[in-house]
Amino acid sequence: MNKASRLFCPALITPKNAVVKQTEQLSRSQKLLTELGLVKSGSNGTYQIMPMAQRSVDKFVDLVQSNMQLAGGQKITLPILTPTNLWKKTGRLDGDISEFYMVRDRSNKQFLMSPVNPRGGSDCHAGHHITISYRQLPLRLYQIGPKFRDELKTRFGLMRAKEFLMKDMYSFDVSNERAGETYAIVSAAYDRLFKQLDVPFVKVNAATGMMGGSVSHEYHYISPVGEDTLLQCSSCGFAGNSEVLDAKPESPVSCPSCKGSDLKEVRGVEVAHTFVLGDKYSKPLGATFLNTSGKPQSLVMGCYGIGITRVIAAALEVLSSEQELHWPCLLAPYDVCLIGPKQGSKEQPAAELIENELLLKVGELCGHQELLHDDRKELTIGKRLLEAKRLGHPLTIIVGAKAAHQDSPQLEVHLSKGEILELDINEALKLVAEHSQHKKNLLNCSFLQDKEENRSQSVGQQH
Ligand SMILES: [Zn+2]
Repeated sequence: MNKASRLFCPALITPKNAVVKQTEQLSRSQKLLTELGLVKSGSNGTYQIMPMAQRSVDKFVDLVQSNMQLAGGQKITLPILTPTNLWKKTGRLDGDISEFYMVRDRSNKQFLMSPVNPRGGSDCHAGHHITISYRQLPLRLYQIGPKFRDELKTRFGLMRAKEFLMKDMYSFDVSNERAGETYAIVSAAYDRLFKQLDVPFVKVNAATGMMGGSVSHEYHYISPVGEDTLLQCSSCGFAGNSEVLDAKPESPVSCPSCKGSDLKEVRGVEVAHTFVLGDKYSKPLGATFLNTSGKPQSLVMGCYGIGITRVIAAALEVLSSEQELHWPCLLAPYDVCLIGPKQGSKEQPAAELIENELLLKVGELCGHQELLHDDRKELTIGKRLLEAKRLGHPLTIIVGAKAAHQDSPQLEVHLSKGEILELDINEALKLVAEHSQHKKNLLNCSFLQDKEENRSQSVGQQH
C-alpha cells in the first residue's frame, strides 16, 4: 500500500512576492503538474518525472504494449545513438537538421541521438544485414524509448519538450497490398487505445510531408494549446488537416463526410501518427527480403508513432480545470485516496477503527497498489482533501467526524469531477467496486463490442 507520508512529491513553493521568470509558456496541465510535484522542470525543455506521474507513465506504457501485442507487435530496443553514415544514405542529413542532437565519440565519429523518424526500424534491418524470407513476413516491431528534438521553442511542458518518451512501431510487408492490411490492423489498435483513454479525439487524414509514403493519419486532441490547425465540421464532427483539405480563403471547402459547409478552425495537439512508407526508406538502405523465387526485393514499410509523455500531458490539458487535474480513468496514478481523522481529534479512536477496516477492504477491491493512504495525520482533513482534489484522484474517501457515529457511521466520498456523496461503509465499498469494474470494462474494450462493425466507417469522425 502507498502512504502519502512516504511519497516523494516535491511540491513547488513559490514565495508570495517572488518575481516568476517566465522562461517558457505554461499550460494548465504543466502548471499543476509542476506545482503539485509530479514533474520537475530540468534544464530548459527537459523534465524529471516524479513517482506519482511515473505511475501514470507506466500505466500508459502497459496499455500501449497490450494493444501493440494484440496487433501482432514484437518489442525490441534500438540504440539511442545511431551512426550518421546510415542517415546519409537516405539523404535525411541533406535537409534541415537543426532539430537533431549530434554527438561525437573520442575518435570523432558522429552519432545522431534518436530523433522522431521512421528510420530506426530500417536501420535494424539494413544495418545488421539480416536475411529475411517472405515466410517471416509480416513483421511488426516496436520500441518504447526516449526521443530527442532540439526545439527552438519548448512549450507546455511535456507536450513539447526536447526529450520525450515515444512508442514507435515499424511494419515490414512483402507488397503494398499486404502493407495496407497491416495498416488497417495497427490503425484499429490505435483507435481502440484512444477509445480506452476515453478522451475525445479526432483522427485526420494527414499530409505525409517529409516522411513520404502514401497513406497517413494523425490523431489529435483538440485544445487551444495545440500547434496544428484543423478544420472541424460542426454538423458531423469530421476533422481534417487544413493543409490536406487545401482550404483557400476565397473558396470555402465543404465537409468531405457530410458535405456541410460549416467548417471551423480548431487547434489540435498531435498525439499519434500512422504512415504507410512504401519502399522510400527500405530501398536506399537495401532493406530487402527474399521473395518466393529467392530473389531480394525491397520491404514495404509502415511506421506508427505515439508520443507517450505527450498523450498524458495533452489528455490532462483537455480534461483538467485551472485548479484540479483530471486523469483518464486508466491513467490516474491511484484509483482511491483514503484520508483518516486528524491526530488528537475527539473522533480519532472510533474513526480509526473504520479507517483500518477500509484500508483492507478497499485495497482488496481495487488492488492495494491502487490505494493511496493519506496517513499524514498531523494535517487537518481539509488540507489533505484540498491536495487530493488538486491531484485528481478518481475517488477520495474521508473518514472524519461523521464516521465516529456509532449507529450509522458515514463517509464522505469525493469524485474527481466535484461530486460529493455521503455514504455508509457498504455503499462506499460498492462505489470502489464499480470503479474497478469500469476500469476492467475499458481494458477489455467491452464498449467496442456492439460497435465493432461500425469501426471501418469511423475514420475521420469525432469519437
Ligand atoms: Zn460534416
